[in-house]
Amino acid sequence: MKKKLFSFLVIIILLTMWAIFTKPFYTVPILNYHSINTAQYRKDTPKVSPELFERQMNFIYRKGLKVISLDEYVEFLRSHKKIKNAIVITSDDGYDDNYLYAFPVLKKYGFPATIFIIEKHIGVTSGFLNYAQIKEMEKNHISFGSHTINHVYLPSVKSEEGLRNEIIGSKKNLEKKIGHRIDFICFPLGGYNEHIIELVKQAGYVAAFTTNRGADKLNRNIYAIKRIKITNKDNRFSLWFKTSGYFNLFNKFKKPN
Ligand SMILES: [Zn+2]
Repeated sequence: MKKKLFSFLVIIILLTMWAIFTKPFYTVPILNYHSINTAQYRKDTPKVSPELFERQMNFIYRKGLKVISLDEYVEFLRSHKKIKNAIVITSDDGYDDNYLYAFPVLKKYGFPATIFIIEKHIGVTSGFLNYAQIKEMEKNHISFGSHTINHVYLPSVKSEEGLRNEIIGSKKNLEKKIGHRIDFICFPLGGYNEHIIELVKQAGYVAAFTTNRGADKLNRNIYAIKRIKITNKDNRFSLWFKTSGYFNLFNKFKKPN
């Protein structure tokens, strides 16, 4: 009996120590989806099936996590306010399967999300969103950000004009077509450098998003906020870990460029 009590106490002490130690390292997890359709072939694009997406949203709902919009998230960062048990949902590239399969699920749970779109494909290329779908989604808590014009790896763009076009030009074009300010950009393949961040600031973006690049594990830099990739390989345990707020702490990060 004494032995059992001792083990119990040790476990309680260890759990308390773990809670105290990890608390300052909590970061709101920002999930990063791409295609929500595994039936459709897209080379090198991370995919999640519509069924798994539904299960994952259900998991977030049952776990009682508060899904906040990117606007709310950035506001928390800027005001240095503390927030716990929150989560942000983002998706990159702007595939039309986001409208067909993710949007009905997000609507069902009332979850906000942000989709970063490749400007040149929107309303033009088959398999991508069009502006009518964007308008409809915007009425239901889905917001949109720039994912540049051509989806090029920005650190490899040599011409200054080309770089300005991808960063500043995509913002202007999208604002004209969607009809309001575009506050956020996400870097294709997560690549960035100091000059790119300078142009992001010049363009007037409020924040910029990357993948798993850079050494800032706690997302202190508002112009290189890290996100967590979700694919069809994620199971219950990995999703639990990725939505815990401590995944970044243990994740190995790549160089920015
Ligand atoms: Zn992309």
